[in-house]
Amino acid sequence: MLLITNGTLVTWGENNRVLNDHALAIENGVIAAIGPTAELSERYPTAEKLDARGQLVMPGNICAHTHFYGAYARGMAIPGPAAVDFPQILERLWWPLDKALDADAVRLSALVCLVDAIKHGTTTLFDHHASPNFIEGSLDVIADAVVLAGLRAMLCYEVTDRDGEEKMRAGIAENVRFMNSANHRPLVTGTFGLHASLTLNDEALRACADALPTGGGFHVHVAEHEADENDSLRRSGKRVVERMHEYGIWGRKTIAAHCVHINEAERDILRETGTWVTHQPRSNMNNAVGALALDDMLAAGIPVCLGNDGFSNNMWAEWKDAYLLHKVVNRDPRKANGADIARMATQHNAQLANQFFEDCPIGQLVEGAAADMIFVDYHPYTPLTAGNLPWHILFGFEASMVTTTIVNGIVLMHDRRLLTLDEAAIAQEALALAPQVWERYTANAQAVL
Ligand SMILES: [Zn+2]
Repeated sequence: MLLITNGTLVTWGENNRVLNDHALAIENGVIAAIGPTAELSERYPTAEKLDARGQLVMPGNICAHTHFYGAYARGMAIPGPAAVDFPQILERLWWPLDKALDADAVRLSALVCLVDAIKHGTTTLFDHHASPNFIEGSLDVIADAVVLAGLRAMLCYEVTDRDGEEKMRAGIAENVRFMNSANHRPLVTGTFGLHASLTLNDEALRACADALPTGGGFHVHVAEHEADENDSLRRSGKRVVERMHEYGIWGRKTIAAHCVHINEAERDILRETGTWVTHQPRSNMNNAVGALALDDMLAAGIPVCLGNDGFSNNMWAEWKDAYLLHKVVNRDPRKANGADIARMATQHNAQLANQFFEDCPIGQLVEGAAADMIFVDYHPYTPLTAGNLPWHILFGFEASMVTTTIVNGIVLMHDRRLLTLDEAAIAQEALALAPQVWERYTANAQAVL
């Protein structure tokens, strides 16, 4: 048993509470007890102790949509004139890069992101992977990295027909193989990845729908740019959500990333099917694709979650940018209320995670919940309450304040020291491989200019 003492507990969950001078007992990866430090210290005198020294102890952050595979894009030169829109960014950056990845590059891309996640207190990640020249077994390579890190993750391979039918079929096979074999890694699970409507012909969508293991769902990009809607209308006369609805893509286990350009009828389908929408404001701003109708979706009861789309795993940066983006886009400071941002990032993301990790609740500090938590070295100079906590996070929290990260009761970082991964060694190995990855990328990118 591990006893965390002297913490200011932030419980999240539906009724967030802030509990001063509290302790938390962890056993078998689960929170066994919560109570005042003095009381639990007396109840568990022999437990190993971890002194939080007055720091905030709160559930680890959850990232609902990310791409480990994009790691090698950092600092990379994109040949040719600057991309003018998101379709060109896909053609000139992401598709030539994913084709440049081999097994080592996939492994190291994952590892550098996992280091970043532990340091930033992000303990559960929903990854969406692409490596068209290394498909079969790619999810195992990522899963092994996740296990080494000790984090919790849901993985998938993005099926697309942009590289021909054979690779489309291989992508399907990789999802199915991984979903059916994921049970032996308790913290890693799988879902069925799809790129986006604009790179999935009818045959591909039919094949994916037919191949989906019972009870499974999909993880797909939806209307990130209007090109996706225009393509869908050209192909089928239907909008993206309507087109994919015909194939049974939507449901309680499906994640629709972005949804920037969907209309009200599409929104209704997502709501009626219980589909999860993820919002990635930093990515949307970077790609200049626009902003989803956040307040309308939340008001309609759509469970909008928060992801990072491959940006840093500092999820509070995503909170802050969501909070700011909708205000400036709408010229209305009432948009994207702080409490709504917190609800997306904590409650919705946790509910999403619990669709896939069903053993115990994730994303809240209550007895019986998963022992996934972080220490935050934040000492408020104004009153901090359960009610105003979102604004302390939005205006006061920094990634550098995360000092300790715990997943499934295992301490992955203590006082900013990583215990499961060797950051310097991973960075060195990734750096040694970078020239090869960049060289292959450049050749691929020049071919499409
Ligand atoms: Zn994405």
